[in-house]
Formats: sequence, structure tokens, C-alpha cells
Amino acid sequence: MDFRFTDDQLSIQSIARDFAQKRIAPVAAELDAKGEFPLENIREMGQLGLMGIEVPEAYGGAGMDPISYVLAMVEIAAADAATSTIMSVNNSLFCNGILKNGTEEQKQKYVRAIASGEAIGAYALTEPQSGSDASNMHTRAVKNANGDWVINGKKSWITSGPVARYIVLFAVTTPGIGARGVSAFIIDTAREGFLAGKTEPKLGIRASATCEIEFHDYVCPKEDMLGEEGKGFAIAMGVLDAGRIGIASQAVGIARAAYEATLQWSRDRKAFGHPIGTFQMTQAKIADMKCKLDAALLLTLRAAWTKAQTDKNGGRFGTEASMAKLVASEAAMWITHQAVQIHGGMGYSKEMPLERYFRDAKITEIYEGTSEIQRLVIARAETGLR
Ligand SMILES: Cc1cc2nc3c(=O)[nH]c(=O)nc-3n(C[C@H](O)[C@H](O)[C@H](O)COP(=O)(O)OP(=O)(O)OC[C@H]3O[C@@H](n4cnc5c(N)ncnc54)[C@H](O)[C@@H]3O)c2cc1C
Repeated sequence: MDFRFTDDQLSIQSIARDFAQKRIAPVAAELDAKGEFPLENIREMGQLGLMGIEVPEAYGGAGMDPISYVLAMVEIAAADAATSTIMSVNNSLFCNGILKNGTEEQKQKYVRAIASGEAIGAYALTEPQSGSDASNMHTRAVKNANGDWVINGKKSWITSGPVARYIVLFAVTTPGIGARGVSAFIIDTAREGFLAGKTEPKLGIRASATCEIEFHDYVCPKEDMLGEEGKGFAIAMGVLDAGRIGIASQAVGIARAAYEATLQWSRDRKAFGHPIGTFQMTQAKIADMKCKLDAALLLTLRAAWTKAQTDKNGGRFGTEASMAKLVASEAAMWITHQAVQIHGGMGYSKEMPLERYFRDAKITEIYEGTSEIQRLVIARAETGLR
């Protein structure tokens, strides 16, 4: 076992850290307050290779490994969780989904556009009546006389929905047979029949754009089906395995930012004539924060390492990804909670970023599978029971 990173991994970490500190951190509070999408930063991140880190160079990406992706995501999330949400969807859900399941034409056309930052990607599984129970979707795709697919329905909570050019969408092609009747499609939002609907007002990650999307007789050309008919649900779940490594990294980034701010505050802030970091109750919190932060990072790196092995040799990494997401998201929630507490009144103030970290951390326990769903995935793998 070797805990050192390679030169390439350190290089992308340094590129991401530099951009995060110089360009993202200075505007994060303002964009959060306004709920404004960081379009310019996303385009520049595309040029730096951060929107398609694991995408091969042949399709316009950085051609790097899953550990590089984790390191870069942590840096971006530590500056602004909302920007890292957009980055995560582009990398893990959109690009990864098409790279794993798409045709050569689909990879050249869609992955290249998203990996370069020219366009923004989205992933649409959730519907108003189905989130954890995703196979209970109602969006319907029906084949027309030309063999193309006519799509009708509504998806909810779609990250980057209002700004995405391309979307990986899941819809029912054969009703009545559950998950086996779901297929995946690549949607071009410039086509007729697509509508970005109601914006979802959110607690955190407010600079990311989230909305409902609607399909009204949208015609998807047959060549834009992703993978085989009836294999859409397996594609959706496989993509989420990779996505959960991204969300675990995001949680680690938020937690690290809160932890580092707290360390500084515990040295600087005095009460009863002493730095508050000299009080044993503060010290215990700091020790627990550091242990949870490192445990979260190590589980996330293990999941990324396992994914890298399966990329080369086949196999699965879903349980490792679920463990990383579960532990990292709960660590982020706990650490940001303690960070607000240790900052006292200033932790509650919008003059400091702690309250933003606290609000942003919560989403990591909800999207791409709630903590309850991660526990189901892990326990089912361990027991072999369903
Ligand atoms: C900001 C944001 C961005 C999002 N972005 C996207 C996106 O880009 N694309 C997309 O497709 N979706 C997206 N989502 C949707 C997200 O993935 C779902 O909200 C999530 O999966 C939970 O589904 P739900 O909201 O329907 O909750 P429900 O499934 O209704 O769950 C409600 C509660 O019941 C619990 N529960 C449900 N089933 C079980 C069970 N079997 N055992 C125990 N407990 C259970 C859940 O854990 C939860 O606590 C986003 C959501 C948010 C909030």
C-alpha cells in the first residue's frame, strides 16, 4: 500500500486549488446570496480540464484517473459546494454515463462538448412521485413510425436543468415491467418539446441551478438512445455508483473548509482570557472533527481506487462508493454543525462562510441516494439479503 499521490494527481489538485482560491472562493458568498449560476467559472474550469477529468483526451477530457477526480473535487467544494455540484454532475453523471454506455458518435458529439466546458450537462432520473423509488417513474417514451422516440413527462430536482444543453434522461419504454421497462436517452434541450420549468428554491448549494424539466411530444432521434432498450435503469444505477464518489468528495471538501476555519478560530478567539482552543471541550470537538474528516477522505480515496481497478479489469465498486458517500456526508453535516458552534454568534452570521458550509453540507445526505438508501445498499451487499 502506498499513500503517496502521483505527480499527475498532485498536478490536477494544484490546478484545482489555485483556481478555487483565486476565482471561486472570492465570489462564493455573493453568488450564494443571489442564487446566481457561476457560468464564467464553469467555462474556465472546462478549459482547465476540470469538467471531464476522467474523460480520455480523444473526447476532449483530461484523461486522468478517479483519484485525480476526488482530489480536484475536494478543492473546488472547499471553495464553493454549488460549483462542485455542477462539476460533479458534468463529470460523474453525464460524461461517465455516455463514456460507459454510448456509441462512438455519441461520445464525440456529447462528451466532447461537456468535458470542454462549451456546454453544460445534466442527469434526469427523479420525478415528483419517485426519488428513492426511482423505477416508479412515469415519463414515457413511445416509438414513432420512423423508429424515433416521442417523450412526454416531467422530471424534478434536475441540477443544471435551466442551463443544460444536453441531458441524460431515463423514461419508460415498456410499461408494467418496472425497472426492466426503462431506457436511457440523450436529450438536446435546443429541440422543440423541451421545457425548463419551475425553479426549485433551495436551502443550500444556491448558486447551482435546479428545476423541473418537462417533455411535450419531444422527439428523440433513435440514434440518441443511450445503451440498449430496457437497460436504462441499470445504466442509471451504474452511473450513480460513480456519482457517489463525486458527492463523497464534495462532502470532504465542505468539511475540510469548515474544519480549517475552525482551527484558525480556536487559536484566535479568546474567552475568559484564553484562546477557546485551550478549553478541553473545544479540543475534544477538534479531535473528533479531524478523525471524521480523515476517515471520510480515506474511504473516498478507497472508493476511487477501487473504481480505477474496475475501469481496467471489470468488477464492481458500488459498495465502496456508498460507504464513502454515507460516511463523508454524515461527517460533513457533523463537522459543519460543530464548526458553527465553535464560532459562536459569528458561526451564525452571513459575514463568515460557516453558515453556508452548514447549509451546503445537508444536500450531501440527500441527493444521489439518501443516507438511508446508502445503508440499504451496504447492508444488502454484506448480508446478501434484499
Ligand atoms: C438540490 C437537489 C439536487 C438534485 N439533483 C438531481 C439531479 O440532478 N437529477 C436527479 O435525477 N435527481 C436529483 N435530485 C433528486 C434526489 O436524488 C432525490 O431528492 C433523492 O434521491 C431523494 O428522493 P426524494 O426526494 O423523492 O425522497 P423520498 O424518496 O421520498 O424519501 C423521503 C425519505 O424517505 C426515506 N426512504 C425512502 N425509501 C426508503 C427505504 N426503502 N428505506 C428507508 N428509508 C427510505 C428517504 O431516505 C428519505 O429520508 C436532487 C435533489 C436535490 C434536493
